[in-house]
Amino acid sequence: MYQNCCKKCGSTSLHTEIKGNNTGLYCDDCGAWIKWVSKDELRAFEHSKKENGINRIEPDSKDMITRLKEFAEYLDKVIDKEYENMPLSPEDAIRRSSYCLALERDKNAILNILDGKDFNYVGA
Ligand SMILES: [Zn+2]
Repeated sequence: MYQNCCKKCGSTSLHTEIKGNNTGLYCDDCGAWIKWVSKDELRAFEHSKKENGINRIEPDSKDMITRLKEFAEYLDKVIDKEYENMPLSPEDAIRRSSYCLALERDKNAILNILDGKDFNYVGA
């Protein structure tokens, strides 16, 4: 079993930090290093955090890149959806094209950033 309190200050509020190839258990309150944890211990630790309703680290959680990619895909879908329907009026057609242009710019900016370029990069 993992140790669930800090020897130094007695706090039971702990967190894990990844240091190189190891995962350490640290005290939230005084910052003391408690021990290195094995994969099994880490799992037990995460499990107990979840049971306590605290979830600081979600090992399977998506990273920011994945979230941004999903957002870019979402923008693409919103644009497609706009073009599915016939405009209600000439004004609506203008509204739609400005709206979609803005979405398209946002999408391209995100894709540029993900690509390691400036948001306003325009391909040659
Ligand atoms: Zn402590």
